[in-house]
Order: sequence, then structure tokens, then C-alpha cells
Amino acid sequence: DRVDNPYVGARGYVNPEWKAKADAEPGGSRISNNPTGVWLDRIAAINGVNGGRGLRGHLDTALAQGAGYIQFVIYNLPGRDCAALASNGELGPTELPRYKTEYIDPIAAIMADPKYRNLRIINIIEIDSLPNLVTNVTPRPTATPMCDTMKANGNYVNGVGYALAKLGALPNTYNYIDAGHHGWIGWDDNFGASATLFAQAARASGSTVDNVHGFIANTANYGILKESYYTIDSTVNGTSVRQSKWVDWNRYVDEQSFALAFRQQLIAAGFNSNVGMLIDTGRNGWGGAARPTGPGPQTNVDTFVDGGRLDRRIHLGNWCNQSGAGIGERPTAAPAPGIDAYVWIKPPGESDGASREIPNDEGKGFDRMCDPTYPGNPRNNNNMSGALGDAPLSGHWFSAQFQELLRNAYPPL
Ligand code: BGC
Repeated sequence: DRVDNPYVGARGYVNPEWKAKADAEPGGSRISNNPTGVWLDRIAAINGVNGGRGLRGHLDTALAQGAGYIQFVIYNLPGRDCAALASNGELGPTELPRYKTEYIDPIAAIMADPKYRNLRIINIIEIDSLPNLVTNVTPRPTATPMCDTMKANGNYVNGVGYALAKLGALPNTYNYIDAGHHGWIGWDDNFGASATLFAQAARASGSTVDNVHGFIANTANYGILKESYYTIDSTVNGTSVRQSKWVDWNRYVDEQSFALAFRQQLIAAGFNSNVGMLIDTGRNGWGGAARPTGPGPQTNVDTFVDGGRLDRRIHLGNWCNQSGAGIGERPTAAPAPGIDAYVWIKPPGESDGASREIPNDEGKGFDRMCDPTYPGNPRNNNNMSGALGDAPLSGHWFSAQFQELLRNAYPPL
């Protein structure tokens, strides 16, 4: 029943609630007709929060739009966001039973309604969770107590397996597991181990790898799609760019090369040979006046990489409301063999986290990676956060960021 690539020959659902916010910004209508992810980021989101649509409302509106596909983000694991605080969720580390019965089961029941059977329902499964279990656990210097807990209690692996099994049982759903991004999983220590863990999760809680249609890279992140002025094989005076501070021995310099290589690793780890990759290109454009127009000077690998790199972040590990970012490639089906689509899963204009503590009832903490004055932690090698100031809570509308994303769009708008 499933097609090989659900993005081909189908129009994406445009979330009217995101569109209205984008349209209210000067120039926002230039991008507001694009499909973006609908985040089911808490149990209450299934019925709708703050007067917004719930799951049925979005599905019904998709039918009314004549959309061919709709994209949901399944994001509510127990102990969510174990290496950061900005998107901590409502469920405590042991609340896997509630995740199953109060979150996944009702979502699956609604998606199973026969009136939605001709919609291709794309589910992006649990951002950051499995990658955190690879990189942010003891004995790594980047370990956090919550990631150690979530690894030890098995609730991420079992929760992902449960979601895959339940949602994968429907004939018109397409599950894509979150695979982090090149500046995370691209190092040798993380690459194979991640594929192995994903295969374990895909076989947990009664699931099989057949419930996995593909994987997504760069969700809500800022990694460049393709560097133009160097590759991983570039050298300066005989020294590899892998030895530059920026690349720091990573095997990949951008999301496209990472996604294609990781796809092969996933197949080797037991996933089906036709799995497809998605790349979130909502905010990885890096255009504007600061965009390099040629390679950096060949003085040494650092001048060469820093002068020529399109990704202008202070450090690859920076993830919160990055200053200087721009809208990236518009959503595109089948841009390259092995890549199902470029997608906008993180809706541009929605904050990654508050720049200071803001009391809230969403379970969200204050992560100093969202504070522009923060000098960093081991996960960004103690660099400045690079975040924009005055940001609201994660998921809330951040007008100043939206404006900057438009200004720095690449391709330009
Ligand atoms: C937040 C979610 C939000 C999503 C999309 C996440 O960082 O935690 O609440 O729905 O971003 O903006």
C-alpha cells in the first residue's frame, strides 16, 4: 500500500496556524505557503492547545486542502530532552505507561480513522532521544544524569519501539526516526553506534524494521546542507581539513553527505535497503552579507575552513536560536537518490528555547545554551552559545528570529 517516497506527486499540508503567524510578519507571505511539521509535543496537543487545532483538526483541514501528505512530530517521551533543558517535557523518566496509553494509543486511534486513509501521514519520531543515548551518557565527558537514567531504564528505546509499532501498523503512515545531524553523529565514535541503537529500538516493544520508512537529519538544527568551498577530502599544504578546529576530526562537513553515508550504515545495521532520508532545511540557509563567496585563505586548515565555510556558527554543537541563520532550501521532493525530501519540520519562527528563565506549565526548563552570554559546556566544547537574545519559550513565536531568517535566506527569497 505504501509508496516508496510519500513526498513524490503529493502536495504537503500547510498548517494554517503557522501560516497566519508567518503572514503577520512583513515579507512572511513569501514563505508561508510551505508545509511545516505539526508538533504533538504534549498529551494535550492531541486535542489542541491554546485554541489551536488538535490532531483531528489538522487531519480534517488537510483533507479540506486536498493535501496528499501531512507531517507530524511525535515528541513526548518520558524524560524528554535528556541532554538539554529547553524542551523538557511533561512526562517523568518512569512514565512510559502514560506515554503508551495517554499519548501514542490515542494518536494511533485517530490516525486509523478510515476517512484519512488516502492521506500519507508522515510521523517524525522523537527528536534527539536515541542520539542522546549514544553521546551524552557515561563515560563520555558530555554525559548528563538524565541521559544516563534514560539509557539505564530503557524507556527511550521501548517508547520509540512502541510508537513505531503502533503507528507503523496503519497502512498509510510513514515513520521516520530522528538521526541527529552531521555535527553530532558524524564522528566515528557515534556513527556506527547510533545505527546499531536505532536498529535495537526498531525491534523493541514488538516492532520490526519494517515499521521504519526512513530517517531525518538536522531536525530543528542549523547544519549546512552542502558546503561549497571544501569537502572532507580537502587539504591545505598536505594537512586534512579534518584537523581544523571547526571540523575537529568529523567525517562529514555537511548534512547531505552525512545523510547519504548514514543511510548506508543504517542498511548495514539491518534496515531495509529502500529506506529514505529527510533533511530539515528550514533554517540552514546561511545567506546574507556574511556568506563567504569563495574558499578561505590557504594559510592553514583553520584559515581555510573558517574563511570558506557557509555554516557561520561559533561551534557545530550550538543549537539554540542561532544568530545569523537563514531559511534554507524550500521543501523539495526527491532532491537526490536516497533522499526522500528536504522538509521544514521545525516551523521557522518558532523558538528553540527561552534566553532566560520563564515560568510555564509546559514542563520546559531554562537551558543556558539559549542565553547569548553563556560561555558553553562540554557539549559545545565550551564556546559561546551563539543564541539570539530575548527569545521566548521553545515552540513560541519569535518574531525577531523569523525576520532574520527571511533576511538571510539562501537560496534568497
Ligand atoms: C518545543 C516544542 C515545539 C517545537 C516546534 C520544540 O523545541 O519543545 O514545544 O512544538 O519545538 O517549534
